[in-house]
Amino acid sequence: MVDLPRCRRVGWADIDAWADRLAERIRAAGAVPETIVGLTRGGWVPSRLLCDRLGVHHLLSLRARHWGVTATPSGKAELTEGLSGSVAGRAVLVVDDITDTGESLALAEDHVRAAGPARLESATFLHISHSKFVPTYYAEEIPRAAWVWVVFPWNYWEDLATLAARARELGPGIDAVRTTLLDRSGLDVSRADLERVARLVPLD
Ligand code: AMP
Repeated sequence: MVDLPRCRRVGWADIDAWADRLAERIRAAGAVPETIVGLTRGGWVPSRLLCDRLGVHHLLSLRARHWGVTATPSGKAELTEGLSGSVAGRAVLVVDDITDTGESLALAEDHVRAAGPARLESATFLHISHSKFVPTYYAEEIPRAAWVWVVFPWNYWEDLATLAARARELGPGIDAVRTTLLDRSGLDVSRADLERVARLVPLD
């Protein structure tokens, strides 16, 4: 069976609004951190945007892997590279793009906690309500019944290549793939974008 999940493509205006909302919530809570830890790869852009809005200069990374390929979980979440610097005695905010199962952020928090921060909180742009881990701050909640694969701007070409290759299995050709993506995933993609993807994955 071809796996073509419902998708929601978000743009930079959404990203900006979510970053503003999160920053406001964090400031309102009096919880501007000294250090932000961005989970790779999804949390990198969100964490950099929060650094900018909150005036944070100490940005670290932590590498988590869970959903290896678009909308396909690869078993259990795992941390594949540790913290890139020290958080001992600091007020820390761990940031990711979305909590879905919540496993990645739960693991990340455990890892950071073991490194001895003075305060530990977490933030995501989006939070799906079935997640077993609830971030301290999130900008928008997605009800579990409305689960979608969110196509973020920093993952657009990767997601599109994967989804287009799957759609190709239901019928070859750029126009057929375009129609399948719209009908099955709700993704409205331009022909020009699919022509670009066709240089990476065969669509004919
Ligand atoms: P999870 O461990 O299930 O909370 O998700 C780990 C990571 O996988 C997230 O930080 C995202 O980068 C990616 N991810 C999981 N679910 C989704 C989704 N519904 N839409 C877009 N990305 C997702």
